[in-house]
Parts: sequence; C-alpha cells; structure tokens
Amino acid sequence: MSEIAIIGAGFIGLASAAALMRDGHRVTLFDPAGVGQGASFGNAGTFAHYACIPVNNPSVFRDLPRFLLSNDSPFRLRWGYLPHLAPWLARFMMSSLPRRYEKSAGALAALLDRAHDGYAPLLANAELARFVRSRECLYLYSNAASFDAARPALDLRRQLGVAFNVLGGSEIRALEPSLAPIFERGVLFANSWHFSDPHGFLQTLYGQLAAQGLTLVRSSVHAVEPSADGAALSVDGATRRFAHVVIATGARSAQFAKQCADPVPLDTERGYHVRFPGAQQLVSRPVGWAERGFYMTPMSDGLRVAGTVELAGFGETRNRSLIDLLTFSSKRALPALDTPDSSWLGLRPTLPDGVPVLGRSRASERVIYAFGHQHLGLTLAGVSGRIVADLIAQRAPPLDLAPYSAARF
Ligand SMILES: Cc1cc2nc3c(=O)[nH]c(=O)nc-3n(C[C@H](O)[C@H](O)[C@H](O)COP(=O)(O)OP(=O)(O)OC[C@H]3O[C@@H](n4cnc5c(N)ncnc54)[C@H](O)[C@@H]3O)c2cc1C
Repeated sequence: MSEIAIIGAGFIGLASAAALMRDGHRVTLFDPAGVGQGASFGNAGTFAHYACIPVNNPSVFRDLPRFLLSNDSPFRLRWGYLPHLAPWLARFMMSSLPRRYEKSAGALAALLDRAHDGYAPLLANAELARFVRSRECLYLYSNAASFDAARPALDLRRQLGVAFNVLGGSEIRALEPSLAPIFERGVLFANSWHFSDPHGFLQTLYGQLAAQGLTLVRSSVHAVEPSADGAALSVDGATRRFAHVVIATGARSAQFAKQCADPVPLDTERGYHVRFPGAQQLVSRPVGWAERGFYMTPMSDGLRVAGTVELAGFGETRNRSLIDLLTFSSKRALPALDTPDSSWLGLRPTLPDGVPVLGRSRASERVIYAFGHQHLGLTLAGVSGRIVADLIAQRAPPLDLAPYSAARF
C-alpha cells in the first residue's frame, strides 16, 4: 500500500483513483474545482470505442481552408492565438500526413479496443451502471458526397476492427422519426453506448470512493518536484510528499510534464454544448451530424448538443457564433426543438498527433502521466485508470505503451 496523489478530478483522475484503490492504495485527489468540473463536465457522453480516426487526418488538407473561412464551419481558429499555436499547428499538419495519421489511428484503436474491459470493474457496480444507456450511436451525413469523402476513414476503422452498419435515408428515419428528412447516409456503430449524466456518474463514483477513504483536497497544485522515491507537490504554500504522483490535469498538464523533464506540445481543442431542457425524448440514442461536427445526446436533464472544435487557447471567453451554430444546426436536424436554456465551454486536452500520453515521466518512474485524451477521455477513462494502476503496481499493462510515451515528442 502506497500514498498516492492524483492531480485532477476529471474522468481520468477519478478512474485512476478507482483502479488504485482496488489495489489497496491510499489516494489523495487534488483539484481546486472539485469533481468533474473540467472537460469531463459537459461532454457528449458517448462511449465512442469506434472513434479511432483522429482530427489530424488527411482530410484536413482538403477541408481546412473551407472550414476556416465558412460561417457554418464547426472548426474555428482564433487568429490572435495563431502565433502561440503555430508550433502545435505545424505538428498537427505533419501528423495529418497519411503514414503518421495511420500510426495515430492504430495507437488509438489499440486503446479503444480495451476501453470496454477498462470500464468493466466500474460498471460491475449497479449504482454506476444505472448511468449507462445501451443504444448504439448514429452518425449522419446530409449528402452522399460527404459520406463518400468519409469512406477512406470508415474503411480504416473497419480494418482496425470497428463494426458498423451503413444506413440509407429511410432506415435513418425509421430509427429516429423526429429527425428532419435531410440525411442521406448514416453509420450505426455496434456496441456503443452513452451515459445519461456524465457528471452524475463521476459524482456517484467519487461518493463511493470517498466512503472507502479517498481524500479530495480542493486546492490547486502549483508544482511537482520529482525524485527517485516519489514526488513533492507544492500546494497551498506547503510541500506534500507522495510515493507516487499521477498527472491527470487534462488540458493543463503540460506545466507538470515540463517540471518532470518532458516538454509536451499539449494544447486545447475547445468544444461547446447547448442544452434543450426536456427534449431528450426526441432521439433514442446519440445522433451525430458529421458535416456540422456535433452530437445530440439524450441526457437525463434534456437533449445535450455538444461538439465543435475551436483552436483559441485557454481563455474563458466563449465564441457566441459556435453556440449559435450548435443551436441553429440542431434545430435544423430536429425541427421540434425549442430554445436551449444553457451553454457550456470545455477544454479538450489534445496533443498534435491525437494520441494521449500514458506512461512514466522521464525524471522519475514514480510520476505517471495520464492526459491528452482529446475527444475520448470519457471513453478511455477505464483503460487509462487500469494502465496507471498497472504501472504503479509494476504489472504488465494490457498493451505496449511505447506509442503513448511523452518521449515521442
Ligand atoms: C464538447 C465536448 C464533447 C465531448 N464528447 C466526448 C464524448 O462523447 N466521449 C468521450 O469519450 N469524450 C468526449 N469529450 C472529451 C472528454 O470530455 C475529455 O477528453 C475528458 O473530459 C478529459 O478528462 P480529463 O480528466 O483528462 O480532464 P478534465 O476533465 O479537464 O479534468 C482535469 C482536471 O484537472 C484540474 N486541474 C487543472 N489544473 C490543476 C492544478 N494545477 N491542480 C489541481 N487540479 C488541476 C481541473 O480543475 C480539472 O478538473 C468531449 C469533450 C468536449 C469538450
């Protein structure tokens, strides 16, 4: 049994705490915002084990100029952030070249392949399993041309083991009758599911772990000082020593990796959601609209419309036009929708190759990284927590971790 600190109480930090406590460790979680208030709060809630195609893929060379100039594009760049973003963006473009993209897709698929098993210990608990809705996710294309453009990526998914069915317009309408008849093709991903309330899931998990001895300290960690026998954390003007430290601070993780001798090009893909209260019955499953870059997910408190990618740094200022785009586009897909009552901004933690960092730090084998899960942190939480626990227990992890190393940069 060791004293372990986890910095960050999102999906990755909580799942890591659960796995470490199953191994009998004593865990202290640090997060000034409390449980599940970062990107984990307002995501689309999908268990997207099929999502092995990263945003960095060859289609960006074709689509990026149009995306950056069009008003209905779900992909935006804040030009004032460009000087800061340029090195990340250059790596992102390099990572979109076919060979590198296929390598990223393979690395993601290998993790996603184990995502279901990773959740198994958590979902064996009835209180947690009640948040799961086992309805397959549906991804839609409003015209055959954009579906055809997506074919190479769908073919790669299939090669990497993802099972799906392609649907035509009438099959889509039969499955989801409230949708406007504007979708020509759909893809239904086998065995996918979603959470009815991702934040509720995390709160419940936290409540269970707290009852078993998990300590939550609502403070910001200012620095991590690694050493051979653990690491010291600077918190609230004091130093606290732990035998192991897990860095699970999502988009804010680069500062700690740097302190542990691993400079990583982590930035953020900002995403938004709007909520339509009481409208969850309009669809029976998460429904994505490919060209508009969002999902409409039935949640316990309404229909959550979540997505878009904005490259604009870490500020709090929301891009009103992306919120309007989500509202306008979802009403076009589901004409019965009324008016959203709230919106949310979240910071996806994204490395330019779209692959998370999972592994030991260069400075100390006792500092473990688990960050950079981009669009997939909910999906990959279980397997990431398991990997963290395996590394600390000196057990073999379920797959080769070389593709996820911080040293790849
Ligand atoms: C619009 C949108 C839709 C999405 N949809 C999906 C989806 O359907 N499926 C899916 O799998 N994923 C989805 N994602 C991605 C997913 O939400 C993220 O990958 C995931 O939440 C990342 O979890 P995390 O624990 O790494 O980070 P976070 O949830 O951001 O948690 C990091 C925590 O670290 C804390 N922290 C930061 N700095 C410090 C510090 N110095 N000291 C202490 N604590 C600190 C923060 O307060 C925060 O709580 C979506 C994301 C967005 C934005």
